[in-house]
Amino acid sequence: RSGYDEAKRFGEALTMAYSRYESVNVGIVRIFNTYGPRLRRGDGRVVSNFVCQALSGVPLTIYGDGLQTRSFCYVDDLVTGLLAMIDQRDFVGPVNIGNPQEITVAELARRVLDTTGSTSEVVFSPSPEQDPARRQPDITLARGELGWSPAVSLEDGLERTVDWFRRQMDQL
Ligand code: UDP
Repeated sequence: RSGYDEAKRFGEALTMAYSRYESVNVGIVRIFNTYGPRLRRGDGRVVSNFVCQALSGVPLTIYGDGLQTRSFCYVDDLVTGLLAMIDQRDFVGPVNIGNPQEITVAELARRVLDTTGSTSEVVFSPSPEQDPARRQPDITLARGELGWSPAVSLEDGLERTVDWFRRQMDQL
């Protein structure tokens, strides 16, 4: 997994070098877990997996013990953050854009079952190698420099996401 992390850091270094060399305006955003309508069904992300599983009445697959945490940002909030960054001239980042509200994967499964009204069970399977135990963005910089913070709660965001997936699946 470190190859993945280092590649992202390298991308940032390249962006900074390019900006200095060519004197162009750049902005570097570190995007944390994002969800919402138009997630691809087979993408493998936890929100799309759980929502599609719940709506299809098949078990929700928790990898590991489900106590690992993530913090989910609704797509509209992410877009607002990106636009705020595009409008900046002097501040180039890197800046974290994400939602600091942290929940466990097991709790997410429960929320998805509540939102969908599904009676799917929850099953546990081995966790992927080096699955981070905790992920939560510190958005102090985004608040201070961009005046940005997320506005959509997980509850509202999940409802909108479930509505969208339900409509997609009705069309199949
Ligand atoms: N996960 C899970 N069941 C799934 C898909 C993912 O329990 O069907 C877990 C995964 O192991 C991780 C978390 O949910 O702990 C978030 O996974 P995702 O791939 O969405 O994002 P990332 O790992 O990049 O944070």
